[in-house]
Amino acid sequence: MNEYDSNRIYDLVKKINYKKTNISEDADCYILNTCHIREKATDKVYHDIGRIKKSFKNKKKPIVLITGCVAQAEGEIILNKEKYIDAVIGPQSYHQLNETILKIEKSSNKLNETNFEVIDKFNKLNQLKNSNDKISSFLTIQEGCDKFCKFCVVPYTRGPEHSRSIDELLLECNNLVDNGAREITLLGQNVNDFKYKEKKLSDLIKEISKIKNLKRIRYTTSHPNDFTDDLIEAHGSVEKLMPMIHLPVQSGSNKTLKNMNRKHSVEDYLKIIERLKKINPLIEFSSDFIIGYPGETNEDFNDTLKLLEDVKFINSYSFIFSPRVGTPAAKMKLVESTIAKERLLTFQKKAAEIKLSYRKTLINNYSTVLFENKIKTNKNYFGKDKFSNPVLIDTNEDLKGKIRKVKITDVNHNTLFGEINEKEKKTEFAA
Ligand code: SAM
Ligand code: SF4
Repeated sequence: MNEYDSNRIYDLVKKINYKKTNISEDADCYILNTCHIREKATDKVYHDIGRIKKSFKNKKKPIVLITGCVAQAEGEIILNKEKYIDAVIGPQSYHQLNETILKIEKSSNKLNETNFEVIDKFNKLNQLKNSNDKISSFLTIQEGCDKFCKFCVVPYTRGPEHSRSIDELLLECNNLVDNGAREITLLGQNVNDFKYKEKKLSDLIKEISKIKNLKRIRYTTSHPNDFTDDLIEAHGSVEKLMPMIHLPVQSGSNKTLKNMNRKHSVEDYLKIIERLKKINPLIEFSSDFIIGYPGETNEDFNDTLKLLEDVKFINSYSFIFSPRVGTPAAKMKLVESTIAKERLLTFQKKAAEIKLSYRKTLINNYSTVLFENKIKTNKNYFGKDKFSNPVLIDTNEDLKGKIRKVKITDVNHNTLFGEINEKEKKTEFAA
């Protein structure tokens, strides 16, 4: 979502004649768009400011703005602590960015823009064309969260749930496809709780699947409690909807899930997977896991390992529990750090084995790949298969935006390597 926000921030500042620069010492303004989901984010802000200060030691100070969730959660503290920062702007207030920059250009007052009015933000952003021209683009359709998992800052930093209107989303989607997008990932902190009037995520997916040049649709991040029948059905009926679902489970222990206030059990989770696999046996899953959550015993951890092995997630993102100030879990007793680290290593080793053995099954088989861009340093072309696996092939052809059948010849933990048969070089595939 920060990538989407950063692109939109750029669309905004262009209106007051700011341009991107790759030479950081030339910048008149720095915007650090931050994430607050785990610790160290604030440290990183101070670290980056230190770097900027050093490069501008003998020059005119640039304008320095902190946007995103660190600004929302710790805005006043960082403004007081680091005098080099001119303003903090929360994730729901960045539509006011130009006014803020213009004010700073005129005076040296510190500004704190962390009001919550997500509707105002989208009203303003809708007036600006989205200039992102990537083959694979993000589109925020829903923001915020009302679920209050005990470990998570999102309900406090992004605010309550808000879904954008279908009409504005269709306009922006068409805009992105006109810019060149062939794949769109619909974004939301609770994307499958998208509701606009009577319309749900499945309705939106069906609407945008009618856009002719849009080839692939994905969505992230889903919550198990919002996996409704209509969305499951869409996976059987919408060909453009990719058979890859990111569905965070956090833990394989019902006791831990309860302590987290997740409001779903491991059994509920497995039932969703079973129903999705029934409608489309090709669907694969990825997930997020929190390791060393307060109260997690060895037995709880082993339950998580068991779930990992049972589902065979093709990608697993795991993090040691990070206490976030203001969340209920921050007050709970921590699992000893050495134990948590050891568990994380065990988990990640198992997850990597599962991932690699899945990838090895792809060797000598064919994948349909949507190509995105040429790698600058060599002849490789980069694309993604239906399961979001990155694929590289060696070619001189311009494959940007094309979907080709690729024979996978080798794999590693990061990438699949492949080749296109002579006969299939010109054949277009639907999705
Ligand atoms: N809304 C999604 C859900 O409920 O499944 C997750 C969105 S959250 C922004 C992304 C991931 O960050 C979570 O799935 C969780 O694994 C991780 N995360 C959030 N808070 C965390 C914390 N305090 N410590 C460690 N990981 C955390
Ligand atoms: Fe955070 Fe997701 Fe839980 Fe909401 S549902 S509180 S975004 S982890």
